[in-house]
Amino acid sequence: MASDRGLGWPEESVPRLLESARDESRLRVSGLGWPTGKAKEMGRALARRAASRNKGTAAAGGAGEDPVRDGRGADQPPVPAPASPAEEEAVRRVRRAVTAAVSRETAPADLAATAHDSQQADGNPATPLGEAPGQALAASAGAAEREQPWPRPQTCRVITIANQKGGVGKTTTAVNLAAGLAMHGARVLVVDLDPQGNASTALDVDHRSGTPSVYNVLVDDLPLERIARPVAEVSQLSCVPATIDLAGAEIELVPLVAREARLQRAFSTYDLARHDYVFIDCPPSLGLLTINALVAASEVLIPIQCEYYALEGLEQLLRTVDLVQAHLNRELAISTILLTMYDARTRLASQVADEVRGHFGEVVLGPVIPRSVRVSEAPSYGQSVMTYDPASSGALAYLAAARELAYRSEPARQPS
Ligand code: ADP
Ligand code: MG
Repeated sequence: MASDRGLGWPEESVPRLLESARDESRLRVSGLGWPTGKAKEMGRALARRAASRNKGTAAAGGAGEDPVRDGRGADQPPVPAPASPAEEEAVRRVRRAVTAAVSRETAPADLAATAHDSQQADGNPATPLGEAPGQALAASAGAAEREQPWPRPQTCRVITIANQKGGVGKTTTAVNLAAGLAMHGARVLVVDLDPQGNASTALDVDHRSGTPSVYNVLVDDLPLERIARPVAEVSQLSCVPATIDLAGAEIELVPLVAREARLQRAFSTYDLARHDYVFIDCPPSLGLLTINALVAASEVLIPIQCEYYALEGLEQLLRTVDLVQAHLNRELAISTILLTMYDARTRLASQVADEVRGHFGEVVLGPVIPRSVRVSEAPSYGQSVMTYDPASSGALAYLAAARELAYRSEPARQPS
């Protein structure tokens, strides 16, 4: 037991462990390492490029990026500065990669047949490329519709969705991948591990304070099956809700035995075979709740927002995953990275995507999630965007991402 070996969290031994985690050789061997300082460097480089662009654009006073989104005021909307040849080449590389990924299994005829212009609905180009809006993703999703259900994994895949940054799309990703997979034959459970209970809200599962929730699973050893609730909108999808009570759990868990492994323990007395996928939605921190999620899972999915400073803090997350892998959960691996909130109008987004793909390679899912108004509206209706507006660019992108995730299940169980 990890805590018996003095490897608990958080304890004095942690700084030592963090130190040892600086040796990322294990990660590098598997292609997942992040040279120390690299993320910060990349973040600063991107910020510098953005700042110099903004200087140029303030003078030019042109239009191009979204001033509201960028929080820079609507009076001086910036335009992208001319790109250097290297930047242009980087953008072309990402475009090729994304095009290949989106159209990998899409016949040209599908593109023409299923074009759906969601530009109007979202006010944003539907593809991350800003080219042929909607067509590639609509076609990809169209193809997906015709071949349902998708293959299911041999055994349940427990996937933790983690990134200690808030607002990068963890919850949105958990909810929409889960819904997309469930709509194509998979049996899916979402475990809401964030005291804010956003995943519970989006799936319209009761999570008022005092409702039996994941808090009782972690702190009171209540069995998971007593907590899991079916999601009304999507059959085969269930949710273990989180209530605000969970906010105290970071502290309440500290004196408990095996505090890092409470969720894993709950899974061990739960019949995971009743699901094909379990997604654990983490809070925006690397505290005990996230550690519990990492200990209970075999895969980590990291959503990365295609935005300023997106890469800062990633190093710390990778180190934490490495630590947990080394000392608490040998099975854990970063299996998936998903690029979120991609705004095709900004060159920065493609630069972030390029850097991430360059570094993480195949771990990064081909489909990229565009910034889409429909995605952000859906939770207020107690829905995933998959049911709220299935034809929107965000829904199509999440569908394409879910499909790739399903086809990456190895070995996969073919649909019966
Ligand atoms: P996290 O769980 O990492 O804190 P969320 O998934 O809650 O992030 O997303 C943060 C906010 O951004 C939410 O208001 C959500 O609706 C919105 N959002 C997430 N993904 C998108 C997207 N692709 N387009 C537009 N808004 C998005
Ligand atoms: Mg969240």
